[in-house]
Amino acid sequence: MQPSFSTVTVLGIPFVKTTADRLLATLQARIVAEQNTFVVTANPEIVMYAHEHPEYQRLIRNADYITPDGVGILDGAKILNQPLPERITGFDTMHALLEWAGREHRSAYFVGAKPEVVATLKRTLPRDFPGLVIAGIHDGYFDDDTAIVADIQATQPDMVFAALGFPKQENFVAQHRHTTKGLWMGVGGSFDVLAGAVDRAPKFWQEHHLEWAYRTFKEPKRLKRIAIIPRYLHLVRQQAKQQH
Ligand code: UDP
Repeated sequence: MQPSFSTVTVLGIPFVKTTADRLLATLQARIVAEQNTFVVTANPEIVMYAHEHPEYQRLIRNADYITPDGVGILDGAKILNQPLPERITGFDTMHALLEWAGREHRSAYFVGAKPEVVATLKRTLPRDFPGLVIAGIHDGYFDDDTAIVADIQATQPDMVFAALGFPKQENFVAQHRHTTKGLWMGVGGSFDVLAGAVDRAPKFWQEHHLEWAYRTFKEPKRLKRIAIIPRYLHLVRQQAKQQH
């Protein structure tokens, strides 16, 4: 049995109170034990969306692990006086799982991102993760997922990464996760980063909790996303008051 983590609930979303390393070890153990696993990595934008869409909230609350992907979640937990140890991002978790999968010759299926990103990944994944078994790669612009799901079911990958953006990726995972005995995880724009189409913020920005500022500067259309932060923090403060 794997350890079960305690959680900190921020606006109705229970976040695992653990470190990236401990979660990774747990995910690996579950893959080895063929335990079906649904991981959600949630930032304030997802929390707010769930707050406004009860059906989506229910769906992600059914995940096995919800991780704090974004400094805004750590800030929220601090306001609630229940600090979380660190960020656990979708990109870092996927990257670490792929490195492990390479060493252990385990398999992964990739669904999401634009066709040109997928074309790059087909070239770079075998080079970057030698030993990784690529069960399949499909872009994220499809009308009907029947053929993709049939392929996932036929290939039985250890891991399925869905990079479709939210809420699409969590809907996809929730609907199809039981077609395998492995791990399923929504990873947002991570395939773009993996393929080198979008840069991760340099270490300095990451270490100073400014990755959001770097990415907004590079992609001004993201401004809309950080615009929700004040309302999010306001609602968390209200939650904190109700708890006292
Ligand atoms: N995407 C997709 N199918 C869609 C819509 C989006 O595959 O119908 C992909 C898109 O190409 C991108 C990812 O989903 O790779 C979403 O990235 P975004 O930057 O919005 O996610 P974030 O990392 O901010 O959660």
